[in-house]
Amino acid sequence: MTSHLKKVELHCHLEGAAPPELTLAQARKYNIDISAYLKDGAYVWHDFASFLECYDKISEVYKTAEDYALLTETYLAELADIGTIYSELIVSPDHGKRIGLGADAYIEGVCEGIRRAKAVSGIEARLIVTGERHFGPESVIGAAEYAAKAGNPLITGFNLAGEERMGRVADYARAFDIARDAGFGLTIHAGEVCGAFSVADALDAVRPARIGHGVRAIEDADLIKRLADLGTVLEVCPGSNIALKVFPDFQSHPVRALKQAGVRVTISSDDPPFFHTSLEREYELASDVFGFSDAEIDEMTRTGIEAAFVDEATRQALFARL
Ligand SMILES: [Zn+2]
Repeated sequence: MTSHLKKVELHCHLEGAAPPELTLAQARKYNIDISAYLKDGAYVWHDFASFLECYDKISEVYKTAEDYALLTETYLAELADIGTIYSELIVSPDHGKRIGLGADAYIEGVCEGIRRAKAVSGIEARLIVTGERHFGPESVIGAAEYAAKAGNPLITGFNLAGEERMGRVADYARAFDIARDAGFGLTIHAGEVCGAFSVADALDAVRPARIGHGVRAIEDADLIKRLADLGTVLEVCPGSNIALKVFPDFQSHPVRALKQAGVRVTISSDDPPFFHTSLEREYELASDVFGFSDAEIDEMTRTGIEAAFVDEATRQALFARL
């Protein structure tokens, strides 16, 4: 049981966290038929293409700034209920534009949800703006420029997500220069779909403080040592990795081997209901399946606070709540 442990989450995509019950209520509100994508309280997909299609369909029921406030507030309340004190949500201003809401209204809705959740439970949350590799370097630079100009104190990080097989990290380095100059913490999705080289690529071109996933670093002993020496933090999402078949089963998942090799690891849920998981389940897996002791799990949570994209006063306040 891990219900008594405080929790921190560094890697969760906001739309990917949409609780099925809320999605159903939203679909009814807008009279949108999502019965092919949501059955018996669970999202339905069977391969990567249908996962993306399902993800898009589910996102369609969140349209207004108030919808995003409600989504954010609902997910953060769910986290707070299981003892979570800090959450970083990955958001895409481009998504706001694509659905016709506009980037500003989308971000404002999410921030309103953060304020409401904090007022109820005290949970702290920050936003990581992400660019999507498959929309190309110009689009990722646009996302970085948007985040830099926003001057929003809740936006504290910049990420690169999307199709890992598109281009090299160096193609996106300009976007990370903009984000670094704006004072954002940097993290990059790598070592999930692609092998260890993609993690090395991220370190070579940008050297972010954190890597999203990074688990396939396990394929390269030199890279494991490099990550340990640099102190790079991996945002590990075991349930996601198994759902997307990055590893065949939990027994072959390398989170314990990476930690034992001195790599700093944290536990997150990625797109929880899509992968039939939750942060609560990820902590349970850490305990029951990977056999981490409560002390080891607390150490990963501490690592999460050390690596959180927050000001020092907030970081100390989070440590005090552990
Ligand atoms: Zn992710």
